[in-house]
Amino acid sequence: MVLTGAGISTESGIPDFRSATGIWAEVDPFEVASMRAFSRDPERVWGFYRTRIHSLLAAEPNVGHLALAELEERSLVQAIVTQNIDMLHRRAGSREVVEVHGSIRTAECPNCLWSEQTADVLAQLEVRPAPVCIHCREILKPGVTLFGELLPPGAIERAVELARAAELMLVVGSSLEVWPVAGLPLEARSFAVVNRGPTALDARASLVIDAGAGETLSALVAELSRASPQSAS
Ligand code: NAD
Repeated sequence: MVLTGAGISTESGIPDFRSATGIWAEVDPFEVASMRAFSRDPERVWGFYRTRIHSLLAAEPNVGHLALAELEERSLVQAIVTQNIDMLHRRAGSREVVEVHGSIRTAECPNCLWSEQTADVLAQLEVRPAPVCIHCREILKPGVTLFGELLPPGAIERAVELARAAELMLVVGSSLEVWPVAGLPLEARSFAVVNRGPTALDARASLVIDAGAGETLSALVAELSRASPQSAS
């Protein structure tokens, strides 16, 4: 299985989380992306997510996302567990994708649990500062996991199950600092890391490649194509 983080999407023009040019270098996450902020000032949280959803929808999958879809096509990858909310793995053609921090696909009603599609949420945001549930009029919450919120239980359980069954976990573009996801590699029999810069678990990895995700994953697919050209697509 593959575990991805924000680093796989930087080559699509989406800033990551912690580097000097990351999103949180400019805004305080607790002011715009935490449960406390949402209870206190949901309109401010939606002001942030409105811009974020528009910019994520404008991004395109990059060669790293496409290479992982190709590895699944070749039955070398069983599933991707991603911390990303940008939907780029599915847009690249990956089929088994577990989104452990939710995604921008929907927004949820905290009261009646209705799930609203992003297009309808964005349409509402054109006319009001925060979208409301069409059934009970409660303010909707972004479908992503906010700071201070529990992870979607089904997704994290599935991720642990995949990690325990995996012969090898490939970690791509994650600093492995956000728990509980950062503990997943330790559940697998072995894991390899492709990341620019160090991760919290480098010392425990079987292999660490400090390089860009796109160049590394596309080189891997090219090498496999040379080794078995008959199965190249
Ligand atoms: P992180 O920012 O903590 O770590 C990203 C890592 O990727 C860093 O070590 C960075 O040096 C490395 N990196 C950056 N560009 C790279 C590249 N081209 N190739 C290889 N490595 C590269 O991100 P994380 O571990 O995913 O942190 C988790 C949180 O970030 C999650 O909660 C996630 O929801 C959120 N997030 C998601 C997105 C997204 O959906 N694209 C973007 C930003 C943050």
